[in-house]
Amino acid sequence: MRIGILALQGAFIEHKFALDALGIESFEIRQKRDIEKPFDGLIIPGGESTVIGKLLRQLDLFEPIKEMIENGMPVFGTCAGLIVLAKSIEGENPHLGVMDISVRRNAYGKQIDSFSNEALIPEISIAPFPLVFIRAPWIDSVGENVQVLCELNGHIVAAREKNMLVTSFHPELTKNTAVHEYFMNMIKGE
Ligand code: GLN
Repeated sequence: MRIGILALQGAFIEHKFALDALGIESFEIRQKRDIEKPFDGLIIPGGESTVIGKLLRQLDLFEPIKEMIENGMPVFGTCAGLIVLAKSIEGENPHLGVMDISVRRNAYGKQIDSFSNEALIPEISIAPFPLVFIRAPWIDSVGENVQVLCELNGHIVAAREKNMLVTSFHPELTKNTAVHEYFMNMIKGE
């Protein structure tokens, strides 16, 4: 199994470390020729969604990646990656616009820049795991085919729609690999 990690900006190397810990091969996607060889799953990391969206277009990665996801490529978006995938962004135009979720950027406000919490997500793991939020979005609403995986204080922070998995928190910034393992199982079709 080979996983492509979008490495245009943001916290991409941390995803590589998480996959390394699971013994999964990964590679960085920085330009169009990086996606020529087949691969099995894609990670869109945290960072700044506006910057990632702009670079996707500038580097001619936007259309091929959108098409890949629409054709079923498993994708995991964390934080900015979640925003990049969303069909609707409060007050802004969407980027890839492939997942039926409406999101609010920097939803926790300037006062709470980052915080951590813990949650039990039965679909993902039998034990609670840490959630790290950094200038995080939340999901305001989801379409009917979207499965809500986690709500925290009344706001949706993890969801899945078919081949697409998103978290507004950063599992790659913790030592816990449960969400990455869940994504690997998604790819294997379990
Ligand atoms: N605030 C960023 C954005 O709106 C997301 C932050 C993150 O990815 N940690 O794109």
